[in-house]
Amino acid sequence: MINNLIKKAYQWAQKKSLWVIHFNSGSCNGCDIEILDLLTPRYDVERLGIVVEASPRHADVLLVTGPVTRQAKDGLWQIYSQMPSPKWVVAVGSCSSTGGIFANSDTVLGGVDKILPVDVYIPGCPCRPEAVINGLLKLQERISINGDDRPENFAKRD
Ligand code: SF4
Repeated sequence: MINNLIKKAYQWAQKKSLWVIHFNSGSCNGCDIEILDLLTPRYDVERLGIVVEASPRHADVLLVTGPVTRQAKDGLWQIYSQMPSPKWVVAVGSCSSTGGIFANSDTVLGGVDKILPVDVYIPGCPCRPEAVINGLLKLQERISINGDDRPENFAKRD
């Protein structure tokens, strides 16, 4: 009973204080500009407990924009592996979800899920800031219901 209460309190705190880091794995910059909008007074994601963080060592959520290029794949993995658990991955835009318009390029591996486990996919080219906020709220919902339901030791996908 007490363990359950502690777990619920922990999940509530986790849900209400998501620290987010952004990584561009090959984007055209369209989705990145939409992410920047989240910090403006108009969208102001900090009111939802979402803080943009520069260091992976302090981040809970990895926001990835763009398809994963061969050049960016190792960097993407490195950022993810530096983040402490529990951690979550959000694919922002069509390119990071599926490869998008770059899917058939020789230099592109595909969507982020070719390398990392993705928790939330946000469609759009580019995706609107409202869609990114909606995706992050869905992630908060999932955390409050399931907590950290991800595999602890996720093996690198090549
Ligand atoms: S989804 Fe569209 S805007 Fe976003 S990185 Fe791909 S091409 Fe650019």
